[in-house]
This record gives sequence, structure tokens and C-alpha cells, in this order.
Amino acid sequence: MKILIVDDCTASVSHLRGILSKAGYANIIAVSHFEQAIAVLAAAIESETEVDLIIIGVDLPGMDCIGMTLTIKSHHAYEDIPIIMVTEHSEEAMLDRAFAAGVSDYIVKPVSAIELRARVRSALQLRREMVKRMLRERELERLARKLERISNLDGLTGLANRRCFDDTLVQEWVRNGRADTHLGLLMVDIDHFKHYNDALGHVDGDTCLRRVAEAIRAVVHRPGDLVARYGGEEFAVILPNTDYTGAVAVAENIHASIAEIGIMHPNSAVSCAVTVSIGVTSGIPMCSTTPKHLIKAADRALYEAKQSGRNRTRSTQLSGPDELRQ
Ligand code: GH3
Ligand code: MG
Ligand code: MG
Repeated sequence: MKILIVDDCTASVSHLRGILSKAGYANIIAVSHFEQAIAVLAAAIESETEVDLIIIGVDLPGMDCIGMTLTIKSHHAYEDIPIIMVTEHSEEAMLDRAFAAGVSDYIVKPVSAIELRARVRSALQLRREMVKRMLRERELERLARKLERISNLDGLTGLANRRCFDDTLVQEWVRNGRADTHLGLLMVDIDHFKHYNDALGHVDGDTCLRRVAEAIRAVVHRPGDLVARYGGEEFAVILPNTDYTGAVAVAENIHASIAEIGIMHPNSAVSCAVTVSIGVTSGIPMCSTTPKHLIKAADRALYEAKQSGRNRTRSTQLSGPDELRQ
């Protein structure tokens, strides 16, 4: 572990260094000024070999031990490094100020070997525990971030999952309502997918779902857009700030993108390749309507696309609370 001694008295430094070296501490740096100490701390952070303990002589030129401790502790990167003060005096008022500033321990001169070894050992033990805890916390934060990311994704396709879709739709509903802009929604459903599975099996069915997901994602570009797996072989696309005409255009691009990858469908009444039906809607969110209206309207349009022959888009203008009653 790395120890930094800050003291302008050479005799004192060599006394401390001698005791510590004999005790097996090999990584010791000694400086005589506060500025040099800060430079060593910064360089150590830079090279990822942090200082683990600072031993400060009490009266340094330019800044006393308490001032230096306050400065070090005010720095986020150094605040957890323990500091031992070496002093000629042990007046209570001075020690009080030193501890309040963040000094962890003190030794009175002349420094005895046994005392220095004991103080350094326990300070470094504390430091090790702190580093361990810090690493555990960082790992926990990393796992929490990963979990959050995973829990927003559909495992099969890598698209946003239903939970993420629900949350995003509410957020965009509020945002587009406030901005007085159109919110578009597409419901995309694979045609005769049951027959596809029946003919080729579920493994090929899963591959087909992944490829269709990729084909949809390939043509939905804007940063605020969201493509989600709504469930089974059904996908949903949220299109913020997109009016009816724009949403229909995206739907047409999706048909073209899926046609382009040309996945053979051995048993579809519509085409020899996999096709989709799409329900489109768009509207400006208002107080009298909710995201459910938008889903209802897109679902209704999807149903019409299926009824009128599949492999096509049908669209519904969002008209208001009546959508819920239908
Ligand atoms: P339509 O054209 O009317 O949409 O007919 P369809 O066969 O696509 O619709 P239906 O709702 O009758 O069947 C959907 C099928 O999608 C049923 C199920 O076998 C399949 N499916 C749903 N989720 C998955 C999945 O995760 N993997 C696979 N391989 N198949 C799935
Ligand atoms: Mg289907
Ligand atoms: Mg379906």
C-alpha cells in the first residue's frame, strides 16, 4: 500500500521512513510542501495507484496540518484517505480542531516505532475495508444499471419490452400533449404466424420474429421513436411528434423493409413471404383522452387491416373519448 509523508524536517522524515521500511512498507513517498503533496495525490489518481495513507508533520511551511487536512478532505477523490498527524504537542483544543478537520489519528513526537507501526497498521486496515466497500458499492451500481437495462428489453428480439412500451407511451403522451404535437402509434402483427410455426417449428418461428423485429427497427430512425415487442408476434411503434400522414409513411416503410428481407412463409394465404398487417393512428393528446384511446384506435385499425385481406395498413384518426367505448 502507498504511504505519503508530508514533512519539511528531513530528520523526522528519515526517522518515519526508517521505521516503516523496517516494518515492510516498501511504497513510501516523502515530500516537504503541501503543493508537492497535492501533486503526488493527483498523479496517483491519474496512474490508478492511489495513496492509502497520509502522514503529516504538524507545522508545514505555507500551510499547517489542519489547513492541509481541510483542503485534502474537501477534494472528492481524496476524502477517504486516512490522515495521521505527527505533532510535538497534544493540547486538547488543537487536537479537537484536527479531528474536526478530518484527521483520523495522531502521534506525539518523539515517534516510537511500536506506536507508529500500530497506528499505521490500523489506519491501513481501515483503508482496506473502505476500498473493499467502495468496490462492492460500484459493483452493485453496475448490476443495478444492467438490471434496469435488461428489464426494459425483450429477451428474444432485443427490442423494448411491453413494460418499457407502457412507460414510454405515457411519457410521450404527456410530452406531446404539452407541446401540442401529434403522437403516432403503429401496431404491427405478423400474418398467419401460427401457420408459420406449425410448418417450421418454434425455433424457426423465433428466428423469424428476430428478423422481423430487425426489419422494423431498420426503418424507424428518429431519436424519440420506440419500437417494442408488444406481445407474441405483435410489435408496437411509438412515433412522437408525428402526424397521421407521417405515421402512415412509416408503416409503408415497414411493409417494404419486411418484403425486402423476404422470409419464405410455407403456409400463408397472403403471400409466399412473411407479411405483416399494420394499424396506424395519430393524434394530439388532450385532457379528455388517455394513452388507452391511442392503443384502442391503433388496434381497431389493425383489425380492419386483417379483415380486409392482411399484408396492408389501415389507419384511424384519434377522435377522442369515444374510442374507449367502442
Ligand atoms: P393473423 O394473421 O390473424 O395474425 O394470424 P396469426 O396466426 O399470426 O395469429 P394468431 O394470434 O392466431 O397466432 C399467433 C401465433 O404466434 C401463435 C403462436 O404460435 C405464435 N407466437 C407468439 N409468440 C411467439 C414466440 O415468442 N415465438 C414463436 N415462435 N411463436 C410465437
Ligand atoms: Mg398474427
Ligand atoms: Mg397477434
